[in-house]
Amino acid sequence: MTRLKTFLTPSRSAALDSCLGRGGSVVIAIHIHPDGDALGSAIALKEYLGVSRGCSVSIVCEDEAPSSLAFLTGDERLVCDSAEAASLLEVSRLLISLDHNDFRRTGSFEPLLRDAACRKLLIDHHPLPTESDYSLVFSHPELSSTCELLYWLLVSLDDVRSASALPVRSRQALFTGMTTDTNNFANSVLPSTLQMASELMEAGVDREAILSCLYNSYPERRLRAMGYMLSSLMHITPQGLAYAILDSATIGRFGLEDGDTEGFVNLPLGIGNVVMSVLLKQDGGFFRVSARSKRGYSASRLCSEYFHGGGHEQASGGRIFIPDDIPDAAKAAEYIETISARFLQEAPAGDK
Ligand code: 5GP
Ligand code: MN
Repeated sequence: MTRLKTFLTPSRSAALDSCLGRGGSVVIAIHIHPDGDALGSAIALKEYLGVSRGCSVSIVCEDEAPSSLAFLTGDERLVCDSAEAASLLEVSRLLISLDHNDFRRTGSFEPLLRDAACRKLLIDHHPLPTESDYSLVFSHPELSSTCELLYWLLVSLDDVRSASALPVRSRQALFTGMTTDTNNFANSVLPSTLQMASELMEAGVDREAILSCLYNSYPERRLRAMGYMLSSLMHITPQGLAYAILDSATIGRFGLEDGDTEGFVNLPLGIGNVVMSVLLKQDGGFFRVSARSKRGYSASRLCSEYFHGGGHEQASGGRIFIPDDIPDAAKAAEYIETISARFLQEAPAGDK
C-alpha cells in the first residue's frame, strides 16, 4: 500500500478531520446523471457525517437518481431544485464535491456552487481538478473510484480507523460505488481496491446481495435493447472504433430510462480488433457520448478533442451538439466515422 501512504499522512488526515468538523449544515454536490460512484460516495459520507459527527447533510444534484440504483438510494431525496440548493448553501458551513473534478460537471448548479461563500472540499478521482475552486483537495486519479478514495480517507480518521467503525449504510454504499466504477472488478483495480473490498466484506458487507441488486434486477427492456444494439446498431470502423447510436426513436421504442444502458459501451471492447467504443444517446438537441478504450488508446483525449468532454484515460464522456457539431441527428454516424479515421490514423501507435 505504498501508494496510499503517500497521501494518507497524519497532517492531511488532520486537515480532513478539521474540515469535516462537527455539527451544522453541510452540502454534498455530485455530477449530473449521477452514477453508482457519485451516489455511493455521497450517501456513504452523508451517513457518516450524520451518524458520527452530528451534521445535517443534503445531497444536491440537478438530476434525480436512476431507478436502477433505488436499492442504494433508498429513501434518500436528492435536492434537484436550484432555488432549494441555493438556500441550503446559504446556511451551510461546508460544501463537498464528490466524483467530479470541476463544477461544470454539475450542469446548471455550477454558478451557485462556485459562488457559495462556505469552505469547499473536493474528494475525487478524475484527472486535472480545478483546485483553485476549493479550500482543500483530495484528488487521486490513480484510484479506482471516489468510493475507494473516500474509504481510505475515512479509515485514516481517528474516530474511524477501521471498516467496522463506519455506519452500516456507508459500508454498503462505498462497496456499491467501487463495484460499479470498476465494472465489477474489471477495470482500474489495484491492490488497494481489493484490500478495501476485503476489509468491507470482513466488516459484514454482503457482496452477493449488492451484486444481485446491481446485475440481476434489470428490467427486461434493458436486455432487449442490448440485444438490438449489438445485432443491429453496432458498427465497427476500419480503424477499430465500435460505435452505436441510440436515437430518440430507439430510446422511445424500448422505453429506456437513465441507468438502463449502464455498461452497454463496454461490450464492444470484448471484440479482439476493437480498440475504442463509443455510445451515443440522443437527449433532445444533443447526443450524450460515452467512450471506452483499451490500454494505449485514450478515450479521454478523444472526448476532449471531439466531444466537449473528458474523464478518465480509458472511460470518458462528452456531447455532440446539433446543429453546432452536426447539422442534424441523422449525420451522427458520418461524424463518428470521420473522427475515427482522423483520431486513430493520425496518432502514432501507443499514443492514441
Ligand atoms: P459515462 O460514459 O459512464 O457517462 O462516463 C464515463 C466517465 O467520463 C465518468 O468518469 C464521467 O464522470 C466522465 N464524463 C462523462 N461525461 C463527461 C463530460 O461531459 N465531461 C467530462 N469532463 N467528463 C465526463
Ligand atoms: Mn467515479
